[in-house]
Amino acid sequence: MKPCAATEIGSWDLTADVVVAGYGVAGAAAAVEAAATGAEVLVLERAGGWGGAAALAGGFIYLGGGTALQRACGFDDTPEAMSAFLMAAMGPGSDKAKISAYCEGSVAHYDWLVECGVPFKPAFYGEPAWEPAADEGLMYSGGENAHPFDTIAKAAPRGHLPQMEDKRTGERGGGYMLMKPLVETAERLGVKAHYDMRIEQLVVEADGRVCGVVARQYGERVTVQARRGVVLATGSFTYNEDMLAAHAPLLLDRPGSAVEEHDGIAVRLAQGLGAGVAHMDACEVALHMDPQYLIRGMMVNGRGQRFINEDTYPGRIGQAALFQQENQTFLVLDEEGFEEAARVSSAPDFLQLRPTWVCETATELAAEMGLPAGALESTLEVYNRHAEEGRDPLLHKTARWLRPLRGPLGAVDLRGMTSGFALGGLTTNPDSEVLHVNGDPIPGLYAAGRATAGIASWGYASGASLGDGSFFGRRAGRSAALNV
Ligand SMILES: Cc1cc2nc3c(=O)[nH]c(=O)nc-3n(C[C@H](O)[C@H](O)[C@H](O)COP(=O)(O)OP(=O)(O)OC[C@H]3O[C@@H](n4cnc5c(N)ncnc54)[C@H](O)[C@@H]3O)c2cc1C
Repeated sequence: MKPCAATEIGSWDLTADVVVAGYGVAGAAAAVEAAATGAEVLVLERAGGWGGAAALAGGFIYLGGGTALQRACGFDDTPEAMSAFLMAAMGPGSDKAKISAYCEGSVAHYDWLVECGVPFKPAFYGEPAWEPAADEGLMYSGGENAHPFDTIAKAAPRGHLPQMEDKRTGERGGGYMLMKPLVETAERLGVKAHYDMRIEQLVVEADGRVCGVVARQYGERVTVQARRGVVLATGSFTYNEDMLAAHAPLLLDRPGSAVEEHDGIAVRLAQGLGAGVAHMDACEVALHMDPQYLIRGMMVNGRGQRFINEDTYPGRIGQAALFQQENQTFLVLDEEGFEEAARVSSAPDFLQLRPTWVCETATELAAEMGLPAGALESTLEVYNRHAEEGRDPLLHKTARWLRPLRGPLGAVDLRGMTSGFALGGLTTNPDSEVLHVNGDPIPGLYAAGRATAGIASWGYASGASLGDGSFFGRRAGRSAALNV
Protein backbone atom coordinates (compact mmCIF):
# COMPACT_ATOMS: atom_id res chain seq x y z
CA MET A 1 0.00 0.00 0.00
CA LYS A 2 3.04 2.23 0.05
CA PRO A 3 2.92 4.94 -2.61
CA CYS A 4 5.37 4.76 -5.47
CA ALA A 5 7.67 7.77 -5.94
CA ALA A 6 7.29 9.47 -9.32
CA THR A 7 11.07 9.33 -9.69
CA GLU A 8 10.84 5.52 -9.79
CA ILE A 9 8.68 5.63 -12.95
CA GLY A 10 10.92 5.59 -15.99
CA SER A 11 8.26 6.28 -18.59
CA TRP A 12 4.49 6.22 -18.37
CA ASP A 13 2.60 3.54 -20.27
CA LEU A 14 -0.58 5.61 -20.40
CA THR A 15 -1.32 9.21 -19.71
CA ALA A 16 -4.40 11.44 -19.25
CA ASP A 17 -5.47 14.59 -17.42
CA VAL A 18 -7.78 12.72 -15.08
CA VAL A 19 -7.48 9.05 -14.20
CA VAL A 20 -10.59 7.47 -12.69
CA ALA A 21 -10.24 4.11 -10.91
CA GLY A 22 -13.49 2.12 -11.04
CA TYR A 23 -16.31 2.26 -13.60
CA GLY A 24 -19.31 1.97 -11.31
CA VAL A 25 -21.62 4.84 -10.52
CA ALA A 26 -19.13 7.20 -8.88
CA GLY A 27 -16.51 6.55 -11.56
CA ALA A 28 -18.94 7.03 -14.44
CA ALA A 29 -20.27 10.30 -12.99
CA ALA A 30 -16.70 11.52 -12.39
CA ALA A 31 -15.66 10.61 -15.93
CA VAL A 32 -18.63 12.40 -17.52
CA GLU A 33 -18.13 15.57 -15.51
CA ALA A 34 -14.34 15.68 -15.94
CA ALA A 35 -14.68 15.18 -19.71
CA ALA A 36 -17.45 17.81 -19.90
CA THR A 37 -15.04 20.21 -18.19
CA GLY A 38 -12.63 19.65 -21.05
CA ALA A 39 -10.21 17.14 -19.53
CA GLU A 40 -8.81 14.06 -21.21
CA VAL A 41 -10.13 11.19 -19.10
CA LEU A 42 -9.04 7.58 -18.69
CA VAL A 43 -11.04 5.07 -16.65
CA LEU A 44 -9.31 1.98 -15.28
CA GLU A 45 -11.71 -0.82 -14.36
CA ARG A 46 -10.70 -4.04 -12.62
CA ALA A 47 -13.60 -6.10 -14.01
CA GLY A 48 -14.13 -7.07 -17.64
CA GLY A 49 -16.74 -4.34 -18.17
CA TRP A 50 -18.35 -1.28 -16.63
CA GLY A 51 -21.13 -1.44 -14.08
CA GLY A 52 -19.82 -2.45 -10.67
CA ALA A 53 -22.38 -2.98 -7.92
CA ALA A 54 -24.35 -0.08 -9.42
CA ALA A 55 -25.51 -2.08 -12.45
CA LEU A 56 -26.83 -4.86 -10.20
CA ALA A 57 -28.54 -2.42 -7.87
CA GLY A 58 -32.27 -1.85 -7.54
CA GLY A 59 -31.67 1.60 -8.95
CA PHE A 60 -32.96 3.91 -6.23
CA ILE A 61 -31.32 7.32 -6.41
CA TYR A 62 -32.15 9.44 -3.37
CA LEU A 63 -33.12 12.86 -4.75
CA GLY A 64 -35.54 15.57 -3.73
CA GLY A 65 -36.10 19.19 -2.92
CA GLY A 66 -38.73 19.43 -5.67
CA THR A 67 -37.39 17.46 -8.64
CA ALA A 68 -39.36 17.47 -11.88
CA LEU A 69 -40.30 13.85 -11.19
CA GLN A 70 -41.62 14.64 -7.71
CA ARG A 71 -43.66 17.52 -9.15
CA ALA A 72 -44.97 15.39 -12.00
CA CYS A 73 -46.19 12.85 -9.44
CA GLY A 74 -47.90 15.58 -7.40
CA PHE A 75 -45.47 15.94 -4.48
CA ASP A 76 -44.09 19.15 -3.01
CA ASP A 77 -40.65 19.03 -1.50
CA THR A 78 -37.98 21.48 -0.46
CA PRO A 79 -34.22 21.20 0.08
CA GLU A 80 -34.86 22.17 3.72
CA ALA A 81 -37.31 19.29 4.31
CA MET A 82 -34.96 16.89 2.55
CA SER A 83 -32.03 18.08 4.64
CA ALA A 84 -34.00 17.84 7.91
CA PHE A 85 -34.93 14.26 7.04
CA LEU A 86 -31.42 13.24 6.04
CA MET A 87 -29.81 14.82 9.10
CA ALA A 88 -32.18 12.80 11.29
CA ALA A 89 -32.25 9.57 9.29
CA MET A 90 -28.64 9.17 8.15
CA GLY A 91 -27.53 8.62 11.72
CA PRO A 92 -25.35 10.33 14.30
CA GLY A 93 -22.25 11.97 12.89
CA SER A 94 -23.75 12.62 9.44
CA ASP A 95 -21.72 15.12 7.44
CA LYS A 96 -23.75 18.34 7.54
CA ALA A 97 -21.72 20.09 4.85
CA LYS A 98 -22.14 17.18 2.44
CA ILE A 99 -25.83 16.76 3.19
CA SER A 100 -26.46 20.50 2.65
CA ALA A 101 -24.62 20.50 -0.67
CA TYR A 102 -26.44 17.33 -1.69
CA CYS A 103 -29.91 18.69 -0.88
CA GLU A 104 -29.28 22.08 -2.46
CA GLY A 105 -27.94 20.46 -5.63
CA SER A 106 -30.47 17.64 -5.83
CA VAL A 107 -32.94 19.19 -8.30
CA ALA A 108 -30.10 20.12 -10.67
CA HIS A 109 -28.57 16.67 -10.25
CA TYR A 110 -31.84 15.03 -11.29
CA ASP A 111 -31.95 17.30 -14.38
CA TRP A 112 -28.34 16.34 -15.17
CA LEU A 113 -29.19 12.63 -14.99
CA VAL A 114 -32.10 13.20 -17.37
CA GLU A 115 -29.82 15.14 -19.74
CA CYS A 116 -27.42 12.18 -19.67
CA GLY A 117 -30.32 10.03 -20.85
CA VAL A 118 -31.41 8.31 -17.62
CA PRO A 119 -35.15 7.60 -18.11
CA PHE A 120 -37.65 8.12 -15.29
CA LYS A 121 -41.34 7.26 -15.60
CA PRO A 122 -43.54 9.85 -13.86
CA ALA A 123 -45.49 7.33 -11.79
CA PHE A 124 -45.60 6.95 -8.01
CA TYR A 125 -45.65 3.56 -6.26
CA GLY A 126 -47.26 3.85 -2.83
CA GLU A 127 -47.39 0.26 -1.57
CA PRO A 128 -45.07 -1.14 1.10
CA ALA A 129 -42.22 -2.83 -0.80
CA TRP A 130 -38.46 -2.85 -1.24
CA GLU A 131 -38.98 -1.85 -4.86
CA PRO A 132 -41.94 -0.84 -7.06
CA ALA A 133 -43.98 -3.63 -8.64
CA ALA A 134 -43.11 -2.52 -12.18
CA ASP A 135 -41.28 0.44 -13.70
CA GLU A 136 -42.73 3.24 -11.58
CA GLY A 137 -40.20 6.03 -11.05
CA LEU A 138 -40.88 7.32 -7.54
CA MET A 139 -41.30 5.74 -4.10
CA TYR A 140 -40.81 6.41 -0.42
CA SER A 141 -37.45 4.81 0.25
CA GLY A 142 -36.39 5.88 3.72
CA GLY A 143 -39.37 5.82 6.06
CA GLU A 144 -40.06 9.53 5.49
CA ASN A 145 -43.83 9.02 6.04
CA ALA A 146 -43.50 6.90 9.20
CA HIS A 147 -42.45 7.46 12.78
CA PRO A 148 -40.20 9.17 13.84
CA PHE A 149 -39.36 11.03 10.63
CA ASP A 150 -42.94 12.11 9.87
CA THR A 151 -42.73 14.26 13.00
CA ILE A 152 -39.34 15.75 12.05
CA ALA A 153 -39.72 16.81 8.42
CA LYS A 154 -42.50 17.16 5.87
CA ALA A 155 -42.62 13.77 4.19
CA ALA A 156 -41.97 13.38 0.46
CA PRO A 157 -41.01 10.33 -1.60
CA ARG A 158 -37.41 10.70 -2.78
CA GLY A 159 -36.50 7.27 -4.12
CA HIS A 160 -36.07 7.99 -7.87
CA LEU A 161 -35.80 4.89 -10.09
CA PRO A 162 -34.61 4.69 -13.69
CA GLN A 163 -37.26 3.10 -15.87
CA MET A 164 -36.36 -0.41 -16.96
CA GLU A 165 -38.22 -3.49 -18.10
CA ASP A 166 -37.39 -6.97 -16.78
CA LYS A 167 -35.39 -5.72 -13.83
CA ARG A 168 -33.65 -8.40 -11.81
CA THR A 169 -32.00 -6.74 -8.85
CA GLY A 170 -28.75 -8.51 -8.05
CA GLU A 171 -28.23 -9.47 -11.71
CA ARG A 172 -29.22 -6.50 -13.88
CA GLY A 173 -31.31 -4.18 -11.77
CA GLY A 174 -32.72 -0.69 -12.28
CA GLY A 175 -29.18 0.58 -11.64
CA TYR A 176 -28.23 -0.76 -15.06
CA MET A 177 -30.41 1.94 -16.64
CA LEU A 178 -28.51 4.51 -14.62
CA MET A 179 -25.12 3.12 -15.65
CA LYS A 180 -25.78 2.55 -19.35
CA PRO A 181 -26.66 6.17 -20.22
CA LEU A 182 -23.85 7.50 -18.02
CA VAL A 183 -21.26 5.30 -19.76
CA GLU A 184 -22.69 6.18 -23.19
CA THR A 185 -22.46 9.87 -22.28
CA ALA A 186 -18.87 9.39 -21.16
CA GLU A 187 -18.04 7.66 -24.44
CA ARG A 188 -19.65 10.50 -26.43
CA LEU A 189 -17.46 12.94 -24.53
CA GLY A 190 -14.32 11.00 -25.50
CA VAL A 191 -13.66 9.13 -22.24
CA LYS A 192 -11.45 6.06 -22.79
CA ALA A 193 -11.71 2.96 -20.62
CA HIS A 194 -9.33 0.07 -19.96
CA TYR A 195 -10.87 -3.11 -18.54
CA ASP A 196 -9.30 -5.93 -16.55
CA MET A 197 -7.00 -3.26 -15.19
CA ARG A 198 -6.67 -3.12 -11.45
CA ILE A 199 -5.02 -0.23 -9.65
CA GLU A 200 -2.47 -1.31 -7.06
CA GLN A 201 -0.51 1.78 -6.07
CA LEU A 202 -0.67 5.57 -6.10
CA VAL A 203 2.24 7.51 -7.56
CA VAL A 204 3.34 10.70 -5.79
CA GLU A 205 5.65 13.59 -6.57
CA ALA A 206 8.30 14.65 -4.06
CA ASP A 207 5.96 17.44 -2.86
CA GLY A 208 3.22 14.87 -2.04
CA ARG A 209 1.01 15.53 -5.08
CA VAL A 210 -0.65 12.41 -6.50
CA CYS A 211 0.34 12.21 -10.17
CA GLY A 212 -0.67 8.73 -11.27
CA VAL A 213 -1.29 5.10 -10.45
CA VAL A 214 0.38 1.76 -10.95
CA ALA A 215 -2.07 -0.83 -12.22
CA ARG A 216 -1.95 -4.47 -13.31
CA GLN A 217 -3.51 -5.90 -16.45
CA TYR A 218 -3.22 -9.62 -17.32
CA GLY A 219 -0.28 -9.87 -14.90
CA GLU A 220 1.61 -6.96 -16.47
CA ARG A 221 2.49 -3.78 -14.54
CA VAL A 222 1.05 -0.65 -16.18
CA THR A 223 2.00 2.88 -15.16
CA VAL A 224 -0.62 5.57 -15.72
CA GLN A 225 0.06 9.28 -15.42
CA ALA A 226 -2.66 11.64 -14.18
CA ARG A 227 -1.65 15.17 -15.12
CA ARG A 228 -4.43 16.79 -13.06
CA GLY A 229 -5.73 14.21 -10.63
CA VAL A 230 -6.70 10.67 -9.68
CA VAL A 231 -10.29 9.82 -8.70
CA LEU A 232 -10.73 6.76 -6.49
CA ALA A 233 -14.14 5.19 -7.18
CA THR A 234 -13.44 1.54 -6.43
CA GLY A 235 -16.30 0.88 -3.99
CA SER A 236 -16.47 -0.25 -0.37
CA PHE A 237 -14.52 -2.75 1.76
CA THR A 238 -17.48 -5.17 2.07
CA TYR A 239 -15.46 -8.02 0.52
CA ASN A 240 -12.30 -7.52 2.57
CA GLU A 241 -12.56 -9.84 5.57
CA ASP A 242 -9.61 -8.29 7.41
CA MET A 243 -11.10 -4.82 7.11
CA LEU A 244 -14.53 -6.09 8.16
CA ALA A 245 -12.98 -7.82 11.18
CA ALA A 246 -11.20 -4.60 12.10
CA HIS A 247 -14.05 -2.16 11.51
CA ALA A 248 -17.46 -3.71 10.90
CA PRO A 249 -17.31 -7.23 12.35
CA LEU A 250 -21.08 -7.73 12.39
CA LEU A 251 -20.99 -7.91 8.60
CA LEU A 252 -18.56 -10.86 8.70
CA ASP A 253 -20.11 -14.14 7.54
CA ARG A 254 -23.13 -12.30 6.14
CA PRO A 255 -23.90 -12.06 2.42
CA GLY A 256 -22.41 -8.79 1.15
CA SER A 257 -24.68 -6.54 -0.91
CA ALA A 258 -21.84 -5.58 -3.21
CA VAL A 259 -19.49 -7.09 -5.76
CA GLU A 260 -16.37 -8.93 -4.70
CA GLU A 261 -14.20 -6.21 -6.25
CA HIS A 262 -15.19 -4.09 -3.22
CA ASP A 263 -11.98 -4.94 -1.37
CA GLY A 264 -11.26 -1.58 0.26
CA ILE A 265 -8.32 -0.76 -2.02
CA ALA A 266 -9.13 2.98 -2.11
CA VAL A 267 -9.09 3.29 1.66
CA ARG A 268 -5.87 1.33 1.98
CA LEU A 269 -4.05 3.24 -0.78
CA ALA A 270 -5.14 6.64 0.50
CA GLN A 271 -4.36 5.73 4.10
CA GLY A 272 -0.84 5.09 2.84
CA LEU A 273 -0.75 8.84 2.13
CA GLY A 274 -2.21 9.78 5.52
CA ALA A 275 -5.89 10.03 4.52
CA GLY A 276 -8.55 10.09 7.22
CA VAL A 277 -11.54 7.75 7.38
CA ALA A 278 -15.01 8.03 8.92
CA HIS A 279 -17.88 5.78 10.00
CA MET A 280 -15.94 2.62 9.27
CA ASP A 281 -18.28 0.64 11.55
CA ALA A 282 -21.49 1.78 9.82
CA CYS A 283 -23.37 -0.56 7.49
CA GLU A 284 -26.43 -0.67 5.29
CA VAL A 285 -28.50 -3.74 6.22
CA ALA A 286 -31.26 -5.41 4.26
CA LEU A 287 -33.75 -7.77 5.85
CA HIS A 288 -34.82 -10.50 3.43
CA MET A 289 -38.59 -10.25 3.36
CA ASP A 290 -41.37 -8.41 1.63
CA PRO A 291 -42.51 -5.43 3.73
CA GLN A 292 -46.11 -6.39 2.87
CA TYR A 293 -45.78 -9.12 5.54
CA LEU A 294 -43.78 -7.00 7.93
CA ILE A 295 -46.25 -4.14 7.99
CA ARG A 296 -49.21 -6.43 8.81
CA GLY A 297 -47.45 -8.20 11.65
CA MET A 298 -45.58 -7.75 14.86
CA MET A 299 -41.79 -7.86 14.77
CA VAL A 300 -40.29 -9.23 18.00
CA ASN A 301 -36.79 -9.90 19.28
CA GLY A 302 -35.37 -12.91 21.09
CA ARG A 303 -37.11 -11.78 24.27
CA GLY A 304 -40.52 -11.67 22.58
CA GLN A 305 -40.60 -7.86 22.67
CA ARG A 306 -41.35 -5.42 19.89
CA PHE A 307 -38.48 -3.06 19.17
CA ILE A 308 -39.43 -0.92 16.14
CA ASN A 309 -42.51 0.29 14.23
CA GLU A 310 -43.07 -2.26 11.47
CA ASP A 311 -44.12 0.41 8.94
CA THR A 312 -40.74 2.13 8.87
CA TYR A 313 -38.13 1.71 6.10
CA PRO A 314 -37.25 -2.03 6.09
CA GLY A 315 -33.54 -1.20 5.94
CA ARG A 316 -33.93 0.57 9.28
CA ILE A 317 -35.49 -2.58 10.69
CA GLY A 318 -32.56 -4.57 9.27
CA GLN A 319 -30.05 -2.26 10.96
CA ALA A 320 -31.95 -2.46 14.25
CA ALA A 321 -32.13 -6.27 13.98
CA LEU A 322 -28.42 -6.71 13.29
CA PHE A 323 -26.98 -4.04 15.54
CA GLN A 324 -29.42 -3.80 18.44
CA GLN A 325 -31.16 -7.20 18.55
CA GLU A 326 -28.19 -9.52 17.94
CA ASN A 327 -29.82 -10.62 14.65
CA GLN A 328 -32.48 -12.47 16.71
CA THR A 329 -35.82 -11.45 15.22
CA PHE A 330 -39.16 -13.04 14.41
CA LEU A 331 -42.27 -11.86 12.61
CA VAL A 332 -45.60 -12.83 14.18
CA LEU A 333 -48.72 -12.74 11.98
CA ASP A 334 -52.21 -14.16 11.98
CA GLU A 335 -53.77 -16.10 9.11
CA GLU A 336 -55.52 -13.05 7.69
CA GLY A 337 -52.24 -11.14 7.63
CA PHE A 338 -50.31 -13.92 5.86
CA GLU A 339 -53.04 -14.42 3.27
CA GLU A 340 -53.51 -10.74 2.55
CA ALA A 341 -49.76 -10.09 2.24
CA ALA A 342 -49.33 -13.04 -0.13
CA ARG A 343 -52.28 -11.84 -2.21
CA VAL A 344 -51.06 -8.25 -2.67
CA SER A 345 -47.32 -8.94 -2.75
CA SER A 346 -45.44 -8.16 -5.94
CA ALA A 347 -42.07 -9.23 -4.51
CA PRO A 348 -40.00 -12.08 -5.96
CA ASP A 349 -40.30 -15.55 -4.46
CA PHE A 350 -37.22 -15.29 -2.26
CA LEU A 351 -38.84 -12.43 -0.32
CA GLN A 352 -42.12 -14.32 0.26
CA LEU A 353 -42.63 -15.60 3.78
CA ARG A 354 -44.01 -18.90 5.06
CA PRO A 355 -44.52 -19.37 8.80
CA THR A 356 -41.83 -21.42 10.51
CA TRP A 357 -44.26 -22.27 13.34
CA VAL A 358 -48.09 -22.19 13.47
CA CYS A 359 -50.01 -22.59 16.74
CA GLU A 360 -53.50 -22.06 18.10
CA THR A 361 -52.37 -19.73 20.90
CA ALA A 362 -49.59 -17.25 21.63
CA THR A 363 -48.48 -19.40 24.59
CA GLU A 364 -47.99 -22.47 22.38
CA LEU A 365 -46.28 -20.37 19.73
CA ALA A 366 -43.86 -18.81 22.23
CA ALA A 367 -42.98 -22.28 23.53
CA GLU A 368 -42.27 -23.54 20.00
CA MET A 369 -40.17 -20.45 19.27
CA GLY A 370 -38.23 -20.90 22.49
CA LEU A 371 -39.17 -17.47 23.85
CA PRO A 372 -39.26 -16.76 27.60
CA ALA A 373 -42.62 -17.83 29.07
CA GLY A 374 -45.18 -15.05 29.09
CA ALA A 375 -43.18 -12.51 27.07
CA LEU A 376 -44.86 -12.94 23.68
CA GLU A 377 -48.30 -13.18 25.27
CA SER A 378 -47.90 -9.85 27.02
CA THR A 379 -46.43 -8.20 23.90
CA LEU A 380 -49.40 -9.43 21.89
CA GLU A 381 -51.91 -8.39 24.54
CA VAL A 382 -50.54 -4.81 24.60
CA TYR A 383 -50.31 -4.64 20.79
CA ASN A 384 -53.86 -5.90 20.30
CA ARG A 385 -55.35 -3.74 23.06
CA HIS A 386 -53.98 -0.58 21.43
CA ALA A 387 -54.56 -1.79 17.87
CA GLU A 388 -58.25 -2.11 18.61
CA GLU A 389 -58.22 1.63 19.31
CA GLY A 390 -56.14 2.28 16.18
CA ARG A 391 -53.10 3.36 18.25
CA ASP A 392 -49.56 2.25 18.88
CA PRO A 393 -48.40 4.41 21.77
CA LEU A 394 -45.25 2.31 22.21
CA LEU A 395 -43.69 2.44 18.74
CA HIS A 396 -46.08 4.59 16.71
CA LYS A 397 -47.00 2.36 13.80
CA THR A 398 -49.57 4.25 11.71
CA ALA A 399 -53.24 3.49 12.27
CA ARG A 400 -53.67 2.23 8.68
CA TRP A 401 -51.64 -0.87 9.50
CA LEU A 402 -52.96 -1.57 12.99
CA ARG A 403 -55.31 -4.50 13.48
CA PRO A 404 -55.47 -6.95 16.40
CA LEU A 405 -53.82 -10.27 15.50
CA ARG A 406 -56.40 -13.01 16.14
CA GLY A 407 -56.90 -16.76 15.90
CA PRO A 408 -54.12 -19.21 15.04
CA LEU A 409 -50.79 -17.40 14.87
CA GLY A 410 -47.74 -18.02 12.75
CA ALA A 411 -44.19 -16.82 13.26
CA VAL A 412 -41.38 -16.53 10.75
CA ASP A 413 -37.86 -17.18 11.95
CA LEU A 414 -35.80 -14.25 10.68
CA ARG A 415 -32.69 -14.94 12.70
CA GLY A 416 -29.71 -14.10 10.57
CA MET A 417 -31.79 -13.03 7.56
CA THR A 418 -29.74 -9.91 6.95
CA SER A 419 -27.14 -8.82 4.44
CA GLY A 420 -25.42 -5.53 3.93
CA PHE A 421 -22.53 -3.39 2.85
CA ALA A 422 -20.06 -1.14 4.59
CA LEU A 423 -20.82 2.58 4.57
CA GLY A 424 -17.56 3.91 5.99
CA GLY A 425 -14.64 5.12 3.95
CA LEU A 426 -12.32 7.97 3.12
CA THR A 427 -12.94 11.41 4.51
CA THR A 428 -13.65 13.84 1.70
CA ASN A 429 -14.94 17.40 1.59
CA PRO A 430 -17.99 18.48 -0.48
CA ASP A 431 -15.64 19.01 -3.45
CA SER A 432 -14.63 15.34 -3.15
CA GLU A 433 -11.03 16.08 -2.27
CA VAL A 434 -9.57 13.34 -0.08
CA LEU A 435 -8.60 14.78 3.28
CA HIS A 436 -5.43 14.01 5.16
CA VAL A 437 -5.86 13.21 8.88
CA ASN A 438 -4.73 16.80 9.49
CA GLY A 439 -7.79 18.03 7.56
CA ASP A 440 -5.96 19.33 4.50
CA PRO A 441 -6.78 18.00 1.02
CA ILE A 442 -4.20 15.56 -0.35
CA PRO A 443 -3.14 17.29 -3.59
CA GLY A 444 -4.26 15.50 -6.73
CA LEU A 445 -6.41 12.89 -4.93
CA TYR A 446 -10.22 12.74 -5.16
CA ALA A 447 -12.74 10.06 -4.23
CA ALA A 448 -16.46 9.31 -4.30
CA GLY A 449 -18.96 6.50 -3.86
CA ARG A 450 -18.61 3.80 -1.25
CA ALA A 451 -14.86 4.28 -1.17
CA THR A 452 -15.78 7.32 0.92
CA ALA A 453 -17.88 8.10 3.94
CA GLY A 454 -20.84 9.65 2.13
CA ILE A 455 -24.10 11.15 3.30
CA ALA A 456 -25.04 8.10 5.42
CA SER A 457 -23.30 7.33 8.68
CA TRP A 458 -25.32 5.06 10.96
CA GLY A 459 -28.63 5.34 9.14
CA TYR A 460 -29.63 4.70 5.55
CA ALA A 461 -32.32 5.27 2.92
CA SER A 462 -32.51 3.33 -0.35
CA GLY A 463 -30.86 5.50 -2.96
CA ALA A 464 -28.27 7.08 -0.69
CA SER A 465 -25.43 5.20 -2.42
CA LEU A 466 -26.30 5.71 -6.08
CA GLY A 467 -27.32 9.19 -5.00
CA ASP A 468 -24.19 10.36 -3.24
CA GLY A 469 -21.99 8.24 -5.53
CA SER A 470 -23.25 10.02 -8.64
CA PHE A 471 -23.49 13.46 -6.99
CA PHE A 472 -20.05 13.51 -5.37
CA GLY A 473 -18.61 11.50 -8.26
CA ARG A 474 -19.41 14.45 -10.50
CA ARG A 475 -17.75 16.79 -8.03
CA ALA A 476 -14.65 14.55 -7.90
CA GLY A 477 -14.39 14.60 -11.69
CA ARG A 478 -14.86 18.34 -11.86
CA SER A 479 -12.40 19.10 -9.05
CA ALA A 480 -9.77 16.85 -10.64
CA ALA A 481 -10.31 18.36 -14.10
CA LEU A 482 -9.94 21.89 -12.74
CA ASN A 483 -6.77 21.07 -10.80
CA VAL A 484 -4.37 22.67 -13.25
C1 LIG B 1 -28.36 -6.09 -5.11
C2 LIG B 1 -28.00 -4.65 -4.79
C3 LIG B 1 -28.98 -3.67 -4.79
C4 LIG B 1 -28.65 -2.35 -4.49
N1 LIG B 1 -29.62 -1.39 -4.61
C5 LIG B 1 -29.28 -0.10 -4.42
C6 LIG B 1 -30.21 0.95 -4.68
O1 LIG B 1 -31.35 0.71 -5.12
N2 LIG B 1 -29.83 2.24 -4.45
C7 LIG B 1 -28.58 2.55 -3.97
O2 LIG B 1 -28.29 3.72 -3.75
N3 LIG B 1 -27.66 1.58 -3.77
C8 LIG B 1 -27.98 0.28 -4.00
N4 LIG B 1 -27.02 -0.68 -3.83
C9 LIG B 1 -25.67 -0.28 -3.43
C10 LIG B 1 -24.93 0.38 -4.61
O3 LIG B 1 -25.01 -0.45 -5.75
C11 LIG B 1 -23.45 0.60 -4.29
O4 LIG B 1 -23.28 1.07 -2.98
C12 LIG B 1 -22.88 1.61 -5.29
O5 LIG B 1 -22.86 1.02 -6.58
C13 LIG B 1 -21.51 2.07 -4.89
O6 LIG B 1 -21.00 2.87 -5.92
P1 LIG B 1 -19.44 2.87 -6.23
O7 LIG B 1 -19.25 3.66 -7.45
O8 LIG B 1 -18.71 3.23 -4.99
O9 LIG B 1 -19.13 1.32 -6.48
P2 LIG B 1 -19.46 0.43 -7.75
O10 LIG B 1 -20.67 0.92 -8.41
O11 LIG B 1 -19.42 -1.00 -7.33
O12 LIG B 1 -18.20 0.69 -8.68
C14 LIG B 1 -16.89 0.36 -8.23
C15 LIG B 1 -16.09 -0.16 -9.40
O13 LIG B 1 -14.71 -0.17 -9.05
C16 LIG B 1 -14.13 -1.34 -9.61
N5 LIG B 1 -12.87 -1.63 -8.89
C17 LIG B 1 -12.70 -2.17 -7.67
N6 LIG B 1 -11.40 -2.28 -7.37
C18 LIG B 1 -10.72 -1.78 -8.41
C19 LIG B 1 -9.33 -1.60 -8.70
N7 LIG B 1 -8.37 -1.99 -7.84
N8 LIG B 1 -8.98 -1.02 -9.88
C20 LIG B 1 -9.93 -0.63 -10.78
N9 LIG B 1 -11.26 -0.79 -10.56
C21 LIG B 1 -11.65 -1.35 -9.39
C22 LIG B 1 -15.19 -2.39 -9.43
O14 LIG B 1 -14.99 -3.50 -10.27
C23 LIG B 1 -16.46 -1.59 -9.78
O15 LIG B 1 -16.77 -1.67 -11.15
C24 LIG B 1 -27.31 -2.02 -4.13
C25 LIG B 1 -26.33 -3.00 -4.12
C26 LIG B 1 -26.66 -4.31 -4.47
C27 LIG B 1 -25.57 -5.33 -4.52
